[in-house]
Order: sequence, then C-alpha cells, then structure tokens
Amino acid sequence: MATIKPIEGRSVHQIQSGQVIVDLCSVVKELVENSLDAGATSIDVRFKNQGLESIEVQDNGDGISPQNYETLALKHHTSKLSTYSDLTTLQTFGFRGEALSSLCALSHFSVITCQAQDAPKGTKLEFEVSGKLKETSVVAAQKGTTVIVENLFNNLPVRRQELQRNIKREWNRVVGVLGQYACIQTGIKFSVSQQASKGKKTTLFSTKGNQSTRENIVNVFGAKTLTALITLDLNLELEPTSGPSQRWSTQEVGGKKDIRILGHISRPASGEGRQTPDRQMFFVNSRPCGLPQVSKAFNEVYKAYNGSQSPFIFANIELDTHLYDVNVSPDKRTILLHDQNRMLENLKVALTELFESQDYRVPISQLP
Ligand code: ADP
Ligand code: MG
Repeated sequence: MATIKPIEGRSVHQIQSGQVIVDLCSVVKELVENSLDAGATSIDVRFKNQGLESIEVQDNGDGISPQNYETLALKHHTSKLSTYSDLTTLQTFGFRGEALSSLCALSHFSVITCQAQDAPKGTKLEFEVSGKLKETSVVAAQKGTTVIVENLFNNLPVRRQELQRNIKREWNRVVGVLGQYACIQTGIKFSVSQQASKGKKTTLFSTKGNQSTRENIVNVFGAKTLTALITLDLNLELEPTSGPSQRWSTQEVGGKKDIRILGHISRPASGEGRQTPDRQMFFVNSRPCGLPQVSKAFNEVYKAYNGSQSPFIFANIELDTHLYDVNVSPDKRTILLHDQNRMLENLKVALTELFESQDYRVPISQLP
C-alpha cells in the first residue's frame, strides 16, 4: 500500500483555490464585494474578451495601506474577521481571506492601490502563485484600488477550456450578477464595460449613484421595466409559537426575529411578465444570493395569477444576522436560512395578500 503523506503545500493551495474561484462569476463577485467592503462609491468593471483575456475592477475606496502589502494575498489573511464568533454579526461581504490568494494561484494577478494622502501616486503590487508579494513599483493612480486578473485558470487547463467553451453562458451570468449588485447598492456608481480582442470598448450599463433601487433598475434594465412593477414590502412575523414544534428560542438565536422582504415584482396582469425567469434577483441583507426555494415560492404564487409568464423579481430579505449562515460553501453562494420552511409558508401568504389587495389580474391598459 502507498504511504500516506501530506499533500505538498502548493498543490493544496491550488486545489482549495479552485473551490473559492469556481468560474468567471466568482471572480467578479469577490472583487466587487471587496470594493464595497472598502467603502467605494464608484466601481468600474472592465472586461477584455468577456473576461477570457482580463477582468479589471477599479474602485475609489480606502485603498490598501503599505503595512498590508505583504499579507494582502496570503491565504486566510483578512482585515474583516478575526474569530469565528465574529461571523454571527458580520457586516462585510468578505470574511474568509481567500479570494485574492486564490486568484494568485489561478491567474496572472496584480493590484494597483493608492490611499488618499498619496494621490496621484500609487503602488503596483505583483504576486507569486503562492500569494507572496513579488514586486512593488510606483505608478500614477487616484485614491482607491484596481485589481487586475489576467488569463484566468491559465494553470488549470481543463477549467480554462471549460470556460472558453461555455463563455456565452458564463458571460450572461456575469452580466446578470453585476446587474444585481448595481441595482441593490444605492449611492454607488457602477459601470460595466467590455472590449473585444481587437474591437472598441462598449459600456453595458452604468448607474448614477442613485438613492433608490427603482432608479438603479431603470439604469440597468431600462425605464420600460419599471412601469410593469409593483412595490414589494412583505412583513413576515416569525415569532415562535409555543409547543414542541418551536424551533427558536430567544437565547438560541437572540435579536430580532421578524423578516421583511423589500423590492419590486411584476404585476401579474398578462403581458407584463417575461417569457423566461431570467430576471429574478434575490438578496439577503443586500447580499446577492441564489435562493432556489424562495424563488420557487414566489413563482408558485405568481403562477396562480399569471400562468403563462414569469415575473421580474427583485427581493431583498432583511433579517437579523443571527438568522442565516453565509459560511456554507467556500464560494459563499449558498446561504442557509434559519427555519426556512416556516418563512416560505409566511411568504406565500403575504404575497397572495399583496396580489389580492388590488385586482392585479387586470392589465394596466384596461385600468380606468
Ligand atoms: P476577505 O475579503 O475575505 O477579507 P480577500 O482575499 O478578498 O479576503 O481580501 C483580502 C484583504 O485584502 C481584505 O481583507 C482587504 O483588507 C484587502 N482588500 C481586498 N480588496 C480590496 C480593495 N478593493 N480595497 C481595499 N482593500 C482590499
Ligand atoms: Mg473578499
């Protein structure tokens, strides 16, 4: 039998990195979230060749202080979390200190950063595959940070080929995810552009630092979308009832237990939904996430009023940080909601009440 021995450090790093950065979408998500965590009010995302050549995320956030250059891209190094218990009150998107270190292992990775007092001079940082700082140089820069990811998956040939083969689908997902951040984040200017290998740069969408998600939706999806939407404001009372089915106790979860769902949804009246459920966005405390069960509940209720179309849904679930867990998978895509079944039941009732409260079966054109 072969001897059991530890995997060599560099290989472990590569294996784990591939779980944090699984595709183009995870790169974009991690970098945009870092910019938001750095207090940016302007985020510019630039793709070359739909990200196959490069992905650049430029922000006007706090920048990185020189004392953090060496540790910036080291695995499990973060300025956001120091102990496990901090997770229950987490206010930042990031907490694992894995994104930048993973990107070093999976791409040609560099950073340009500048703190306010140093502008117009910044520092360009280049890293080794391990995440160790390799080189610094002085460059022209404004306050903020630009992260540059070139040749994603250059050292994972199968993953690279997969990315190239599925680039159309990946690209649609990336644009969708960026649209989610751009819509949910108020007071932040987002700009997303793409440049083909030898073509000119085109801006896909940009938001203007609006104060409302409605204005953001207009910037991203166009004004026409909005005329078909009604406001979502559902309050789900989730105080536990007594008895053996009680799953929550105040000591167990602490804090506030009510859930509020804010956002926008298509009027069920015919002609205003979409042919496919391609514009459905879910957030937990403004964190975009895939919530298949929640999505299913929304669609089920909607279907009773409009059987032939899918709604545009923009739903931000506001709840106490004690009531969910974002630490389920390394790519943070999965969120575990406390007592989800009860929440879903209440959600269906509240949504039905909303649709029933006015006769949303009547198309807008036939309203008096
Ligand atoms: P995490 O976000 O979980 O802390 P990352 O690997 O994404 O881990 O980032 C590591 C650290 O690098 C962050 O904790 C933060 O201090 C710093 N950082 C990353 N991106 C930026 C940025 N755009 N602006 C300022 N600091 C950043
Ligand atoms: Mg991060």
